[in-house]
Amino acid sequence: MKYIHQTISDLMRSSPAQTEFYQAVEEVLNSLAPLLEKHTHYQQQAIIQRIVEPERQIMFRVPWVDDDGQIHVNKGYRIEFNSSLGPYKGGLRFHPSVNAGIIKFLGFEQIFKNALTGLPLGGGKGGANFDPKGRSDGEIMRFCQSFITELFRHIGPTTDVPAGDIGVGAREIGYMFGQYKRLTGNYDGVFTGKSLLWGGSLARKEATGYGTVYFAECMLKERKDSLNGKRCLVSGAGNVAIYTMEKLYQLGATPITCSDSSGTIYHDRGIDLKLVKQLKEKQRVSLAHYAESYPEAIYTEAAHYPEDGHAVWRYRADAAFPCATQNELTLMDAKALLTNDCKLVSEGANMPSTKAAVDAFIDAKIAYGPSKAANAGGVATSQLEMAQNASMQKWTFEQVDEQLKQIMQNIFISSSHAAKEFGHEGNLVLGANIAGFRRVADAMIEQGVV
Ligand code: GLU
Repeated sequence: MKYIHQTISDLMRSSPAQTEFYQAVEEVLNSLAPLLEKHTHYQQQAIIQRIVEPERQIMFRVPWVDDDGQIHVNKGYRIEFNSSLGPYKGGLRFHPSVNAGIIKFLGFEQIFKNALTGLPLGGGKGGANFDPKGRSDGEIMRFCQSFITELFRHIGPTTDVPAGDIGVGAREIGYMFGQYKRLTGNYDGVFTGKSLLWGGSLARKEATGYGTVYFAECMLKERKDSLNGKRCLVSGAGNVAIYTMEKLYQLGATPITCSDSSGTIYHDRGIDLKLVKQLKEKQRVSLAHYAESYPEAIYTEAAHYPEDGHAVWRYRADAAFPCATQNELTLMDAKALLTNDCKLVSEGANMPSTKAAVDAFIDAKIAYGPSKAANAGGVATSQLEMAQNASMQKWTFEQVDEQLKQIMQNIFISSSHAAKEFGHEGNLVLGANIAGFRRVADAMIEQGVV
């Protein structure tokens, strides 16, 4: 256990003020203790010191001009964290909260998530502290072009393949791809999450949300239960939340909440998904408009969240799907869920539960699917998009969806087996971390000290 403390204090000194990154590292290291005790060669090979240090970090200025002619400057990032299993792979996040620590935690998580898929994918992440909210199409396009004017020289279909994340969807990927093509002259699969018109994969848009629900179904099946008839809390109203709700309905469950930065909707008879899609995918407006169509739905403004917690987790339900952002589910929220008899948590967002909340779920022995396992369906389907691009093929929705389902099952199986192997049956945090780490660490050892 001494090396955990040592690693974190070294990181605090060498990479100050990266709180979320320390949180992600600490969780992985805690999980690895039984593996490292049994197999001492990982320590001898200094794998921990090597794995917490990104292979390369790129930080750059992103200047752009708004519709009124005013100049803005944002910070752009790409962290190429680990390439032992394949080209760096991971999304780009455009959100005002982005900083080096956030991108670093996301990149670190991505290494193990990508390893868990069993596919040839390294780990990376990037983004900018740009706030797309309220920006016109033209402003978004100019920002994306400026961002790629620097990033293009670092990415490529066999080196580093970005995709979307919060604030980056098919529209942004389109503008970035266009600028990349203009600068390089290459028409290649350098991004995933592309439009279906020009190289995108069917089911990629749906994949993260669908995958999170498939993972939940695996956890319940093991407990001789299913999602059919379950009432579910969902947070977020972006791509992950929307397709989580869609799959829940398809499997006979009812999502009764969703949320955005303005507030939370509780709709007892079930969220009207068509309306959420209309508001979020087409009009790009706040969920406050949902309540205008449904007077019986309860809308809680963000400002009215109970102290140290979030309105969305205070309703009674059988299952919870955090699909908004990191640390959106606190210990108080976890206690509220457990008191209300919630039996399952499957994470669509990246690291949505605080450490104390995770511990509460593990102690309570409910079905808890940590993000790096439960939301790996998005990046896994990105790899299916890469495979289609490289072989100049286009697979059907059903072909992709079937592979996604299989991959989520495999992730569940390898995480549960690893947990059992090390004496922590049912602890998928420990199992996912060990299963993901082992694949990356073994590849690193075989490739030498590089
Ligand atoms: N941003 C997504 C994630 O957190 C997807 C990354 C990708 O498709 O490369 O895994």
